[in-house]
Amino acid sequence: MTPLPQPLDPEALQRLIHDLEGLDVLDGGPALHELSRDQHHLSPPLEEALRGCRAQVVVRAHDREQLRRVAALCHRHRAPLTLRGAGTGNHGQCVPLSGGVVLDTSPLQRLLHLDPATGVLTAEPGCRLLDLDRLLQPQGRALRLSPSTWRTATLGGYIAGGSSGVGSLRWGLLRDAGNLLGLEVLTVEADPRWMQLDAAAAAALNHAYGCNGILTAITVPTAPWQPWQELVLDLPDRPAALGLAEALTTAALEIDQLAFLERDLAALLPSLAGLPPPQGDRLLLHADPAALGPISALAQARGGRLLLQRPCWPPRGLLLRELCWNHTTLHARAADPRLTYLIALLPDPVEPVLAALAAAEPGLLWHLERVRQGGCPRWVGLPVFPWRGDDALAGLIDTCRRHGVLVFNPHALTVEDSGLGVIDAAQVDAKRAHDPAALLNPGKLRGALRDTPG
Ligand SMILES: Cc1cc2nc3c(=O)[nH]c(=O)nc-3n(C[C@H](O)[C@H](O)[C@H](O)COP(=O)(O)OP(=O)(O)OC[C@H]3O[C@@H](n4cnc5c(N)ncnc54)[C@H](O)[C@@H]3O)c2cc1C
Repeated sequence: MTPLPQPLDPEALQRLIHDLEGLDVLDGGPALHELSRDQHHLSPPLEEALRGCRAQVVVRAHDREQLRRVAALCHRHRAPLTLRGAGTGNHGQCVPLSGGVVLDTSPLQRLLHLDPATGVLTAEPGCRLLDLDRLLQPQGRALRLSPSTWRTATLGGYIAGGSSGVGSLRWGLLRDAGNLLGLEVLTVEADPRWMQLDAAAAAALNHAYGCNGILTAITVPTAPWQPWQELVLDLPDRPAALGLAEALTTAALEIDQLAFLERDLAALLPSLAGLPPPQGDRLLLHADPAALGPISALAQARGGRLLLQRPCWPPRGLLLRELCWNHTTLHARAADPRLTYLIALLPDPVEPVLAALAAAEPGLLWHLERVRQGGCPRWVGLPVFPWRGDDALAGLIDTCRRHGVLVFNPHALTVEDSGLGVIDAAQVDAKRAHDPAALLNPGKLRGALRDTPG
């Protein structure tokens, strides 16, 4: 294996800083530490592994020419270069393993084009997702997919670091064909080039942690805006809740988000709109107003109750989505810092698998998200459990796999190890093409660690 590039030695660092003159540079102080971190503290082993990792210089790029200059200088000085959006990644994606430069692209916030006929949007990477939706809403459009960190996360960070979120029940995973239509990418070379990638070529940079190109413009489809309603339902037990969820998501109802939280986990989360503590297991939904009648009727038939209905837009205070996806784990850890999580695609039917895992691994608290996968609704599990060390985690993953569960390990550092576990040749080829000196986010693309930097 090729070793990671080393941080710059003090003299090389001074030469780089000298050449960066005129740019928005931070080369000391607490901000250097802050801008080298993300939200990987959800994972105790990542917290441990990344403790000492930090940038030697942070540069904030305010325009395209500044981006180009930084890319060229990093190449000339052989400085590791890690991109950063809002720093909300939960896998340590934007934490530099080899020092060097952290390049903050969050000031690049222009909406470049919105096609009025198709709703296809092209925007700079630093656009905050909520800001994009604020621009889209008066045009009758909305982002198809967004993470629970919608208020803060950037478009570039979501494409390079995210995977799914609100909307995944209708639109699938971010990586599914049709969710990313094109990219403009800047190479890291002596004379950096801008490349225009169509949807097929862009796929290799989707969820590649910024290891194989600097995203400078992103083209995604949007959906017609809908007056989604936040709904909270209490159900007497898990079979009733999961049965209702499965009935709702195979019925002729428009639902954009559906999460299941078992009662003991829901009890750890902050109260939404002053709701009382859960009486049973909970479902959290974004649903179309026309679906409310059938949802209430189907819930009542299973002994359930609709506790809350309010519009999603405009967003105010704590949002329902901020109790879902990785926010569930975030809040649970605030209540009990020993807790952590796993991400797993569960086989159908799900109830026997959950029962078998509960028997094998006591202490799992179930949080499930309903997503569309291969055209069908499926459950993604984000179980929360007390951290008991690496061996216990390996045992849990092994047990899950024996029950037909596809595990995505959120305690792993590389694109591959937190994903499907296999090297994607297209990702590695894109790195060779756009980053021949292997300077981008070193150590995060396992397939590229075999290459010799040029
Ligand atoms: C509480 C919580 C909830 C979350 N919920 C979800 C969720 O529902 N769904 C989901 O998918 N994720 C979720 N995440 C993960 C994360 O918030 C999202 O993926 C988010 O979109 C990342 O955006 P960001 O701007 O913060 O990116 P960052 O964290 O800054 O960066 C993410 C990755 O993108 C790279 N990157 C950033 N900008 C560029 C660029 N211009 N060019 C190339 N690479 C770049 C970085 O190097 C890094 O590898 C959650 C995280 C937390 C902590």
